[in-house]
Amino acid sequence: MKPAPFDYVRPGSLAEASALLLEGDGNAKLVAGGQSLGPMLNLRLVQPSLLIDIAGLPELSEVSEDDAGLRIGACVTAANIEDGKLPLAAAPMLQKIAGGIAYRAVRNRGTIGGSVCHADPAADWVSTLAALSAICEIRDAQGKLRRVPVQKFFTAAFENELAPGEILRAMLIPRVPVGTRFSHHKVSRKFGKFAIASGTVLYNPEQQVLKAVIGATHGRPIVIDNATELFGGKPGAGPLRFDAQRALSLLQENGVEGGAACQTHIAALQRAAAEVFDS
Ligand SMILES: Cc1cc2nc3c(=O)[nH]c(=O)nc-3n(C[C@H](O)[C@H](O)[C@H](O)COP(=O)(O)OP(=O)(O)OC[C@H]3O[C@@H](n4cnc5c(N)ncnc54)[C@H](O)[C@@H]3O)c2cc1C
Repeated sequence: MKPAPFDYVRPGSLAEASALLLEGDGNAKLVAGGQSLGPMLNLRLVQPSLLIDIAGLPELSEVSEDDAGLRIGACVTAANIEDGKLPLAAAPMLQKIAGGIAYRAVRNRGTIGGSVCHADPAADWVSTLAALSAICEIRDAQGKLRRVPVQKFFTAAFENELAPGEILRAMLIPRVPVGTRFSHHKVSRKFGKFAIASGTVLYNPEQQVLKAVIGATHGRPIVIDNATELFGGKPGAGPLRFDAQRALSLLQENGVEGGAACQTHIAALQRAAAEVFDS
């Protein structure tokens, strides 16, 4: 199947892109890497009359780092991150996450912002950026900026917080303290495929931080900010054990149904936990 006909434009600035988006009144769509939008167009799941290509806007490819953390432009690709073209001292785990997304051809074009905006629960950035407490920097059509924690940005599966004319400008990733251990484990049917379950664990024994995210469910990622109960203990004080029964209750409380699905999510989380506790 091929897409329905559409016009295509490459705006010269973010302001122009926003204005076109607003004028389009729901019939215009932004395209960044096209790795999620392309298949949706081909299947005619979306039929915009105008595509606004933002991939070449320099402002969206900027990267910077300061004491607070890392700022990554929305159109930075997974391949850029995988190749270490950003300063990664603030969040070294990003390189590994990027390298685990799909395969190289997809990573060459797919952007961090496109993945976040698409809000596919199975996407790797969706779970891992939630674990890292990332913040979305959003620009409206008047040029005003607002910041939204990524966990609030995902309003439901494939839904986000953006209002008409708004564009995700960058992802802000708070500096990860030294000594933090991080693991993202995904279960997929085949290497390079989307996750059918994923577990992400962030652990800093010194600062007593233990956070877990269950991803690839049918909704928003399940973020457990204080995961000590899930691991039956106090971070930094004695051995931590993964409590599969507590994890099952959490999944059920969050509407995940089916014995096999729950067991796969539990296994993914257990693997991620083992990696951080044993490292
Ligand atoms: C075969 C295949 C396998 C894949 N496997 C994985 C996988 O294992 N893990 C994984 O995480 N992902 C996977 N993906 C998805 C991939 O990572 C996509 O790149 C990503 O989901 C979307 O990024 P994009 O830049 O291509 O966005 P696009 O497809 O260009 O856009 C996606 C959506 O976001 C909107 N959008 C884009 N940028 C912005 C912005 N700055 N502001 C506001 N709205 C915006 C668009 O309008 C569109 O609605 C796979 C894709 C394919 C084709």
